[in-house]
Amino acid sequence: MDVSRFELNPFGENTYILWHKTAKKAIVVDPGMMRDDERNLIVDFLDRHELTLQAVILTHIHIDHVTGAKWLADKYGVKILANKGDELLASSLPLQAQLFGLKIDVPSFNIDQALKDGDELMLGDEKIVVITTPGHSPGGICLYMPDSATVISGDTLFEGSIGRTDLPGGNFDRLISSIKTKLLTLPDDTVVAPGHGYTTTIGAEKQNNPFLA
Ligand SMILES: [Zn+2]
Repeated sequence: MDVSRFELNPFGENTYILWHKTAKKAIVVDPGMMRDDERNLIVDFLDRHELTLQAVILTHIHIDHVTGAKWLADKYGVKILANKGDELLASSLPLQAQLFGLKIDVPSFNIDQALKDGDELMLGDEKIVVITTPGHSPGGICLYMPDSATVISGDTLFEGSIGRTDLPGGNFDRLISSIKTKLLTLPDDTVVAPGHGYTTTIGAEKQNNPFLA
């Protein structure tokens, strides 16, 4: 599986396209497009690689990770998948936009398919395992691709840092517990692809992340 990163919107949010070359299928994770040129970037990439979009998956429902979700799901007729723990956040997107001073229209949307801990999705012949990691938000999830030794960590774990827990539904102790019991237990060479910033590895974060000492 290939994992392509697009840094979008004023928050420098990472939108990921997971794509399978031979199956020619793709999943977009956390579509944060806010402008036409950002929407075009994603559509052009799918077109150029002749990829069929299979689903939109949200690691959590904070505004900077979801502004392109409904647009993309509607355009390609696919479902939005997320954990139900963030359902309340999905219905409060206009409020979130206001909170962050964003002057854009973000239509609220429903979670079409609920993802639970341990759920397995297939992209071509590769498995994507859902890991629930509440703390940054109540319904935060990570996506683990064992065959590609990569985990999409959303805003749960960053290079040298962790997600903030001062937003509604955030909880510091839950976040630390999620990271230690669900992520640091993955193999050390697992690449961590976070919701902001650059990739790291589980091993590097175990050694260097000051929040996990
Ligand atoms: Zn967030």
